[in-house]
Amino acid sequence: MRFWSALSGKATVPPTTQTIVQSERTFTKNGGTPLSTTWIPYFQAQLDDILKELREYVEIETPTHDKQAVDSLGGVIAERFRKLGCRVERIEQQQFGDQLRVEYGEGEEQLLILGHFDTVKEIGTLATEPWRIEDGRVYGPGTYDMKAGIIFCYFALKAIIDSGLPLTKKLVFFWNTDEEVGSPSSEQLIRAEARKSAAALVIEPSFGNGLIKTSRKGGGEFTLHAKGKAAHAGNDHAKGVNAIEEIAHQIVRIQSWTNYDSGTTLSVGKINGGTVSNVVPEAAHAIIDVRVSKREEAERITKLMHGLTPVLPHAELQVEGGIPKPPMERSEKTVLLFKHAQRLAAEEGFTLDEIGVGGTSDGNFCADEGTPTLDGLGPVGDGAHASHEHVLISAIPERIALLLRMMTTL
Ligand SMILES: [Zn+2]
Repeated sequence: MRFWSALSGKATVPPTTQTIVQSERTFTKNGGTPLSTTWIPYFQAQLDDILKELREYVEIETPTHDKQAVDSLGGVIAERFRKLGCRVERIEQQQFGDQLRVEYGEGEEQLLILGHFDTVKEIGTLATEPWRIEDGRVYGPGTYDMKAGIIFCYFALKAIIDSGLPLTKKLVFFWNTDEEVGSPSSEQLIRAEARKSAAALVIEPSFGNGLIKTSRKGGGEFTLHAKGKAAHAGNDHAKGVNAIEEIAHQIVRIQSWTNYDSGTTLSVGKINGGTVSNVVPEAAHAIIDVRVSKREEAERITKLMHGLTPVLPHAELQVEGGIPKPPMERSEKTVLLFKHAQRLAAEEGFTLDEIGVGGTSDGNFCADEGTPTLDGLGPVGDGAHASHEHVLISAIPERIALLLRMMTTL
């Protein structure tokens, strides 16, 4: 705890571990019996309420592009946090749902807690993928990615308030509405909050059996257009410039830049070109997915892509795109932050491990601002974006307990 604060560079006089433990041990609710030293039973007892709340969120479907739908859940979330005594700011958007900035506590220093309430599922998905509980799992669109995470934060904060636990920093929850399409309207707002924050906790789903994500690759997409010259494939073959042949050369070249050791991957994910078989094709296109583990690699690959030159005489190339999501690198401060989380989990009696993943999230923006960032603090489960999306119920109490401890000790 002290170790973490000393290196966070943004802390002033953090309470010692001892005072935190004491405050949890000696605190009494309304002057009554002391609360338990672990929080898991406390949240275990609230499971019915937690699931009821999650069901309400899930049954308001929120596809990113449907502003009205997203805003209706935004209204519910805003109301819930307002009732807890938070200052809620609704940041209006034209195209996407309004972003929600929720603040609790006082002081200059802040801790950023980040998540989104848009989903990839269309309105009407509930008809085929209804809310249901089976084998200790709760199923439904957006359960795992990531409405449960917002609810975990709500119950953690409610417990903090109900129990009168002291905070060391102001908490800023930022709930955005366009994560699933790359956060075009919230990226700058998130970056601005991250710059002001001692740390960022991203409540996206965990990995596997609850792993915390301490690094994420950066990513982007390029479109390569090849232009040749149309000609009759039988009569004028020699006069034609085959755009498909040109793009085929380029595809092999691009794929060869993949380097697993450095964490750089390029995947040509879509190609099209030509018209009919007896015409030498004039145009062809390829769409390329790029992932990088290091910022320098993003720059290097961008340069290579834009520097592509044609192989065939008289062919032309045009490249669009870039790598807008910077990698979330596993910095020294992130490691300290993770170790802190690990200790808190141990105090609750469970183990916490970490992993690096290829997918991006808004955590990438936070890390790019130099803010120590932990991602995947949300639910344990599986099936993000798929029809078997679910949250493991037995792990809910420990995840909320961990969030409560993070919120009160960083
Ligand atoms: Zn998500």
